[in-house]
Amino acid sequence: MTENVVIVGGGFGGLETALSLKKLLPSSVRIILIDRSEYHSFIPSIHEVVSGTIRARDIQIPLAVILRIPGIEFVHDEVLSLDVKSKQVFTSSRVLDYDYLVLSSGGETNFSDVQGAGNFSYRFRSPEDAERIHADLCSLLADRNKVCSVIIAGGGPEGAEVAGELLDLIRGYGYRHDLNSGRLTLTLIHDQDNLLPGFPLKAREFSQEYLLQKGLTIVTGHRIDEVQQNLVILDSGVKHSMSMLIWTGGIKPTRLIQQLPLAKDPNGWLKVTDRLHSQDDEYVYGVGDIISIYVNEEPLSLARLAYHALDQALIASMNINSHLQGRRQVGYSPKDKPQLVSLGKEMGICAYKDKFLSGQWVVLLKKVVQARHLMTYLTKTGLSPVTSRIPGSEFRHLLRILSPL
Ligand SMILES: Cc1cc2nc3c(=O)[nH]c(=O)nc-3n(C[C@H](O)[C@H](O)[C@H](O)COP(=O)(O)OP(=O)(O)OC[C@H]3O[C@@H](n4cnc5c(N)ncnc54)[C@H](O)[C@@H]3O)c2cc1C
Repeated sequence: MTENVVIVGGGFGGLETALSLKKLLPSSVRIILIDRSEYHSFIPSIHEVVSGTIRARDIQIPLAVILRIPGIEFVHDEVLSLDVKSKQVFTSSRVLDYDYLVLSSGGETNFSDVQGAGNFSYRFRSPEDAERIHADLCSLLADRNKVCSVIIAGGGPEGAEVAGELLDLIRGYGYRHDLNSGRLTLTLIHDQDNLLPGFPLKAREFSQEYLLQKGLTIVTGHRIDEVQQNLVILDSGVKHSMSMLIWTGGIKPTRLIQQLPLAKDPNGWLKVTDRLHSQDDEYVYGVGDIISIYVNEEPLSLARLAYHALDQALIASMNINSHLQGRRQVGYSPKDKPQLVSLGKEMGICAYKDKFLSGQWVVLLKKVVQARHLMTYLTKTGLSPVTSRIPGSEFRHLLRILSPL
């Protein structure tokens, strides 16, 4: 009988799982990947879409092109619910049976119950979000008679990267003087004492100093308590007027995961063993941002990063294959890799454990990582046999993606 593996999500974890499974599993197994988006996106570069350096499409490859492989089916649809008892996935248009389920649907913006934040801020999670910010910011900046105040909520890597890009955008548009004169303000609000929590202290101090010198106003040690249409209110009671609020303050599980009747950690993420399957169901695997890994009932401390999702995809695929073949499964143990954070086009930091380096080369290295990632998927699937079936406009788009190399 044909076995079905259904994967929810074609981001970093899901796409890598589909392609690893294809290599490992017998050709009789059907692999179905469902994503509500048409594209696999390189999310770590969306700050450059905000500044207009690149367009959303420059970091997106159509999943239908990558997955045009015999034995893999791509379903462009939204998964609405899951029934782990009957082993079924419900999308907006069909019901799919599975033997193994891989959940890799990522998280969504966490407004941390701050009143008004969901209504009055811009999300910063996808290339489309970034494009919206770029378009609205450009029209705000264009009206030179208006006072313009842009606020970034959150001082993690996403907040620091978007701040660096916005400062470049402002300078590039000739608004540097407005920034100095106070007509235009760019403020980052962060509830800790330095930006970039979890990074080496010197890297945190360096980044903060660099962004301050470029014209960013930084408010640390305070959290946002309430957001109104043109106002941000801090826990100290201080009010900041704002024309635009960009929310970068973390993620939380989506409703799909919240509703799943399987064990979760205290924050609602799916609890998995180091074999990467649910503690309650050995046919439900999880990779990427949605999981919380428990070893001997202790949670593994792990940042939600793309490279972990990629590594987990491989382990989950190997373990599904082993389970099918009745072999022993392997445990996942995270590998530390350097983390790259850009602070605009001219500066970035590269942090590894308690060390850090800085320079413009980090920004270039990020570009290379992006191009290599996207190219890997185009070539992994054997671009040459596929190209003949890609429409001309799509093919030109794919070539542009590869141009940074
Ligand atoms: C601004 C920003 C910058 C980042 N920078 C870095 C970085 O520099 N380095 C790094 O390592 N990591 C970085 N990350 C984190 C990294 O992007 C994530 O860890 C990674 O994307 C997680 O992969 P994933 O597969 O779990 O989820 P995602 O990549 O988020 O993919 C989830 C997929 O599931 C789909 N989906 C969701 N719900 C449904 C549904 N109900 N039905 C169908 N499809 C669904 C989505 O459309 C999406 O394609 C950054 C994240 C952000 C937001």
